[in-house]
Amino acid sequence: MERYNSIQEGLAELKKRNTGNKKVHALLTFQHKNSKMSRDCFLFESVEDAGAQLIKKYDQLKLSNLQRGDIPAAIAARQVAIDAELSEGDPAELGVVAEGHAEEFLISFFDTAVAMVKDIKFVTIYLTHSPCTVNDRKPSHSLPGWPTSCTAKLSKLAADNPKYHFSIVFMEKFGGLAGNDTPQAHLKQLSGARANLSFIHINASPPYERA
Ligand SMILES: [Zn+2]
Repeated sequence: MERYNSIQEGLAELKKRNTGNKKVHALLTFQHKNSKMSRDCFLFESVEDAGAQLIKKYDQLKLSNLQRGDIPAAIAARQVAIDAELSEGDPAELGVVAEGHAEEFLISFFDTAVAMVKDIKFVTIYLTHSPCTVNDRKPSHSLPGWPTSCTAKLSKLAADNPKYHFSIVFMEKFGGLAGNDTPQAHLKQLSGARANLSFIHINASPPYERA
């Protein structure tokens, strides 16, 4: 998590990271009951799973000095080593950090942020990509006690906090939503059509979809 002292600054960072970076980022912002925007905002990024993290480590350590012809054998050996480490090792000892989608890290931190910011009425979450859904290949599953997929988790967050209105603003359409012409309505319906939860696609070209 990174904290910024203005929403402009946080948004500029979010947009910067949306270019050439496959990680999903989420910016948590607040508006107070007196309509003033909170200056405090919080940026979160996704963390890939332990296997992918280990593959990167091995590539940096072992594949850098190989001849081209050795690479297939090296990759096979690498996979054996990674599988062995994953089955036996403690992820922390392997230098691997807990995986999760940006939205999951945001949700874990939400109550802390609310306690810091105070007097909240509106919550706006900016995402580089639309939240994953149960129809995606690997929907998020890293937060104990929360449903699978970030769309379902955001729905629960809104249900657990009925005093606030949540707007989920996303730039790119993620995964299964890529070919969907009405992503806002689709996410609204998938999340149970809660009155205090809206989805907004800011790359949508006119005529703007309403959901
Ligand atoms: Zn997700």
